[in-house]
Amino acid sequence: MIEAAGHIVVSPIGEVDPALCDVVGEETGRSFGFPTRILPLLEEIAFAYDIERRQYHSTKILEKLAETAPPQSVKVIAIATVDLFIPILTHVYGEAQLGGKACIISTYRLRENPHPGQRRISLKERAIKEAIHELGHTFKLRHCPEHTCIMHYCRSVADVDRKTAGFCRHCRVMMEDELKRMEGGVQG
Ligand SMILES: [Zn+2]
Ligand SMILES: [Zn+2]
Repeated sequence: MIEAAGHIVVSPIGEVDPALCDVVGEETGRSFGFPTRILPLLEEIAFAYDIERRQYHSTKILEKLAETAPPQSVKVIAIATVDLFIPILTHVYGEAQLGGKACIISTYRLRENPHPGQRRISLKERAIKEAIHELGHTFKLRHCPEHTCIMHYCRSVADVDRKTAGFCRHCRVMMEDELKRMEGGVQG
């Protein structure tokens, strides 16, 4: 099989709604211009469980994902349903290796409803935004001060709901530069 341009792997962990995987695959593929493929890479993530915090350390999952990623894949985005953390924060919606191969999002905290009765929660919409955001980090993008930009840092789901699913002009240019640089370096 020849896959010159490479692809993005969407890797569900545990019981993830297949429709959610599909839509995350479609939307991230469109944003970054790569074909996507659904491929579960990790059987279990017990190795990342912290007994005291009763949460999963996302950095450890990222390391395993990067190790198990197929060589022809450009990036890997995992979708989990458990509560994720990194030691300096109470929880995270996702994490990424800056300029690396792997990133992860979790639907766990994306189900929160900050405005009961006012707004329908769109888990899909939030998951898509978080997935594009984390993948953006793997393409070397950092947090953006622009509130509507997909690379803006979100402290709450209300912040996630407020931003768009697109890059601001600055991030878009940075992104395209990185893609060009990768094209130059990738063989075939
Ligand atoms: Zn971020
Ligand atoms: Zn931006």
